[in-house]
Amino acid sequence: MTTTPQRVRQSASGKSNGQWLVDGTAPLNPNEVFKAEENPLNVRRRIEEIYSRQGFDSIPHEDLFGRFRWLGIYTQRKQGVGGEHTGKWTDEELSDRYFMMRIRIDGGALTTEQLRVVAGISTDFARDTADISDRQNIQLHWVAIEDVPEIWRRLESVGLETTMACGDTPRGFLGSPVAGIAADEIIDPTPVIRQIVDRYIGDETVANLPRKFKTAITGHPSLDVVHEINDISLVGVVHPELGPGYDLWVGGALSTTPRLAERLGAFVREEDAAEVWYGVIQIFRDYGYRRLRNKARMKFLLAEWGPVKFREVLETEYLGRALPDGPAPAPAKTPGDHVGVHEQKDGRLYVGLAPTVGRASGTRLTALADLAEKAGSRRIRFTPHQKVVVLDVEPGAVEEFLAGTDEIGFTGRPSPFRRNTMACTGIEFCKLSFVNTKDTARETIAELEQRLAGVEIDTPITLNVNGCPNSCARIQVADIGLKGQLAKGADGGNEFAYQVHLGGGLASSDRDEPGLGRTLRGLKVTATDLPDYVERVVRGYLAERAEGETFSSWAHRADEEALR
Ligand code: SF4
Repeated sequence: MTTTPQRVRQSASGKSNGQWLVDGTAPLNPNEVFKAEENPLNVRRRIEEIYSRQGFDSIPHEDLFGRFRWLGIYTQRKQGVGGEHTGKWTDEELSDRYFMMRIRIDGGALTTEQLRVVAGISTDFARDTADISDRQNIQLHWVAIEDVPEIWRRLESVGLETTMACGDTPRGFLGSPVAGIAADEIIDPTPVIRQIVDRYIGDETVANLPRKFKTAITGHPSLDVVHEINDISLVGVVHPELGPGYDLWVGGALSTTPRLAERLGAFVREEDAAEVWYGVIQIFRDYGYRRLRNKARMKFLLAEWGPVKFREVLETEYLGRALPDGPAPAPAKTPGDHVGVHEQKDGRLYVGLAPTVGRASGTRLTALADLAEKAGSRRIRFTPHQKVVVLDVEPGAVEEFLAGTDEIGFTGRPSPFRRNTMACTGIEFCKLSFVNTKDTARETIAELEQRLAGVEIDTPITLNVNGCPNSCARIQVADIGLKGQLAKGADGGNEFAYQVHLGGGLASSDRDEPGLGRTLRGLKVTATDLPDYVERVVRGYLAERAEGETFSSWAHRADEEALR
């Protein structure tokens, strides 16, 4: 047990949701049992001393499918296992003897030295795989248990880690990719991110949460960290008397029950941010629902309490003082993906690049480090849109840099679809997936680039592809969101297909109001028909839109026929 809460309240309904401070701490499901038995982070020692030496078969079930996640490691999907087995076969049957390893990159910030180490690990131990996730992490595949200690040694030699990259923990923090360098920044979140990570990542008091806990922090007016869909977000604002600080949001998440975060109306000073973050995560630990895994995210607690009660509990039980009221962030006026060439406040440039659907490789990351250093840069950032930003590029070097990055497939001048498409891992490696995502997205982009080559698309239209309902690629808040499922093909066999969500968006897109997309009864598109479908809908939008109307506004008012 990682903590012993002292206060036990009476449940209002009399029914237990497994809230520690309401119902007591008796574990109510198998995950809660193994978390209560010991701090899951202890599995690290067993990996180093036993499993890496004795091999895959020496790993017991609860460590392999439970505690390993606390160290950022999951078994990957066995190659060739079709989507018809997803959700039916056991973890053991679906799993390969290799691992996905998620490297935690808080704020998405790496030096080129760190990037080279990550790239070297990819080529030496992960068959040259490296995906940039939409949570600013790097994910490797094909990692063998025997190599994990050496990978950790190399990561830690440059200040990186996989601790709490997965599991019921505070996951890697989203942070503004242009923190500290953008001329129009309200507040630089770097010190707050650093402080929270240094204090709490690896800390036993936050190692047993009801489920995952996602954090986003930005001080940039483009609202570039998708703050509406994180458990806690700190968004830069200027208080009329107190100056720059943060607006506090809680309780956002997507998956099968999407819910956007809500403001608490509280202003957080920079010096209080770490304490407030710790207060919120303790509320989740102590009051989050632990009986059912699918009701355990903090959004369900917020739905019950509402923002007024949540703030009151935070202030009275965890902070011991009231927070000042504060303003809401202003709507974003520029895209939050940072693609293209932009001026920094010091006169140098930052350049946003678009590797297609986040797919990279160790070889290409090494090439990127070479190109960055040649252009005068030692710093790169990943973005929550599966993109890369290279900082500190010398103005005189930018053309050569852009030509070089084009050659390695990290273009800074992408087509609208290459720029605005994301895809999750999908069936290639993910045990929860029904369909392929990255190849489908990549082929669709290439096809659309040809078909719509002469068409001016002057507004971003995001295309997000998921392999299952979990929404790692945020389908409900995309202009066109695709949820993978299997369909029966003409020959009676299974075909990759996607349920379509239309017109979702966040404040960081050019949507008027953040909100979820709409679905149409029975609307499903196969992978083969996807380019036809997207082309049809995009042309329909361009033909029918009113002056200045965004895709999402149009999609919410358009006739169903125009969307089929
Ligand atoms: Fe896997 Fe589903 Fe997440 Fe895609 S959305 S990575 S298929 S869990």
